[in-house]
Amino acid sequence: MGVDAYSTPAPDPAHAPARDERPDLRALPLELLAGLVKSLGERPFRARQLYRWLQRKGAASLDEMTDLPRPLLHELARRSRLTTLERAGEQRSLDGTIKWAWRTGDGKLIESVYLPEPDRKTLCVSTQVGCAVGCTFCLTATMGLARNLTAGEIVDQVQRANRRLVELGEGAGPRPLTNLVFMGMGEPLANYRNLKLALDLLLSGEGPNFSHRHVTVSTSGLVPLMGRLGAETPVKLAVSLNATTDAQRDALMPINRRYPIAQLLEACRAFPSRTGRRITFEYVLLGGVNDTLEDARRLASLVTGIPAKLNLIPYNENPGLGFAAPAPEAVQAFLDALVARNLTAVVRKSRGRDISAACGQLAREGGPGDPRRKGATALTGPAEPR
Ligand code: SAH
Ligand code: SF4
Repeated sequence: MGVDAYSTPAPDPAHAPARDERPDLRALPLELLAGLVKSLGERPFRARQLYRWLQRKGAASLDEMTDLPRPLLHELARRSRLTTLERAGEQRSLDGTIKWAWRTGDGKLIESVYLPEPDRKTLCVSTQVGCAVGCTFCLTATMGLARNLTAGEIVDQVQRANRRLVELGEGAGPRPLTNLVFMGMGEPLANYRNLKLALDLLLSGEGPNFSHRHVTVSTSGLVPLMGRLGAETPVKLAVSLNATTDAQRDALMPINRRYPIAQLLEACRAFPSRTGRRITFEYVLLGGVNDTLEDARRLASLVTGIPAKLNLIPYNENPGLGFAAPAPEAVQAFLDALVARNLTAVVRKSRGRDISAACGQLAREGGPGDPRRKGATALTGPAEPR
């Protein structure tokens, strides 16, 4: 089983609608947009103008671009398409977290989560509809994988969120978001090509201009692509370790059978650190499963020697999956044991739990595999068409 097993869903027996093969303006780097604009006989500065509308101002449609010549807009509408996600739901948590459901052009629902803090405004971004990795504790896993998100759909989560935050009066300026974490639905590295293109667009100076220091991609451990991410992008890496023995990790994260802990840590040691990037290890604390002092001791010895930060995530319970949150004393003892061994460790505080927006609680709401189905809070938007 290779990387493809995590990015290619089982064939859909239903008849697929004809695909629109025209280029997606939302996913075109400035150079390609310049080529398109030139081929339409327009002057080069129009490409930059168009790019800023698409990537900096987050225009939802060509109609907004009032300072571009009408014939150009007309031709663009004919020869290209523009991905703009439709807001299908919005839920606000008491702690300020906002979870959005977005509807894609083919009627799939995906989610992004806004996490405001005094010093940063973070968006947690999805990269796939569902996920094929199948971690036993994760709600997204229960959906299986429907498909990869396109680069336009990845980027547009950020564009729609920024626009909406401005409308809601959150943050200052046209880009309230300061940080991005690719920790929503899906395994980002299983959708590497689209992820890479989306990162290039999001970090581009003429676009939203996110700093690479403020962008983190989280992986369950797709070893062959970790080095590639490090070589081809300047963003930070987070690795979901979650267990300290292969037997335990095999049981929690089936990807470990393909890429066991030793290989994963080898890839972490080799991860390019030219920008002084420290890897973040995420460790979900599952009550009575991987939260003992023995686990903490093993965790410490595994990561010793890797420039790393440890993020402990007390499990957010999902009914029906059979795992429990750890006892608060166990969390504290685990943290103390790591700190005593001179490791940098923090307990990630849970956000948006009241709206099922916390880590590992993202799934198509009310879908067949969603254990929250009974009694789940409805999205504010209309239901997904069936
Ligand atoms: N697929 C990627 C990124 C999305 S998951 C990955 O697995 O790294 C983001 C993080 O949430 C992962 O570290 C995962 O282990 C964690 N997680 C999943 N379900 C969780 C839950 N119910 N409670 C707490 N953390 C969870
Ligand atoms: Fe996929 Fe990450 Fe959930 Fe595992 S934890 S099933 S890799 S989204």
